[in-house]
Amino acid sequence: MSVLNVLRYPDPLLKKVCKEVTKFDNELQTFVANFTETMYHYKFCVGLASSQVGRLDRLITIDVSKARRPQPGHGLLVLINPELIHTSDFKIVREGCLSIPDFTANVKRAMKIKLRYQDTNGESKELEAENFEAHAIQHEMDHLDGILFLDKITNPAADLFRRVKH
Ligand SMILES: [Zn+2]
Repeated sequence: MSVLNVLRYPDPLLKKVCKEVTKFDNELQTFVANFTETMYHYKFCVGLASSQVGRLDRLITIDVSKARRPQPGHGLLVLINPELIHTSDFKIVREGCLSIPDFTANVKRAMKIKLRYQDTNGESKELEAENFEAHAIQHEMDHLDGILFLDKITNPAADLFRRVKH
């Protein structure tokens, strides 16, 4: 397995709309193995979208148990062609992104979601998520449409924050 290179803003691939995955073959399984390894390679990284490693497929991975303060959820998730079918309980939350390492931002997210997706074998499934996990899934799903948190803030002076370097 190998760690993939993570693209950084303003790489143009981060602004592309990803395509639906239709082939659930060995090549996809190998990609998923490298992709999840890449997420785990970065300390406290809780999610990645495939466009962040330059592959324009509708595929994300999430694991909120790896947050700085571990969060309840489903553990490792690989969500292919994810689609939100329910959102509720909207809140303003602070988020960051491996592709925009110098900033965090306040963004409005649903704290309760339900989604439909396919697993790595192409099987259709449904999943309910809440709070931090729901928020992380929405962030990664935005990547699939070329949307970054920078696109969601209306008032940078109030809602964009420079990360404190340690
Ligand atoms: Zn991101």
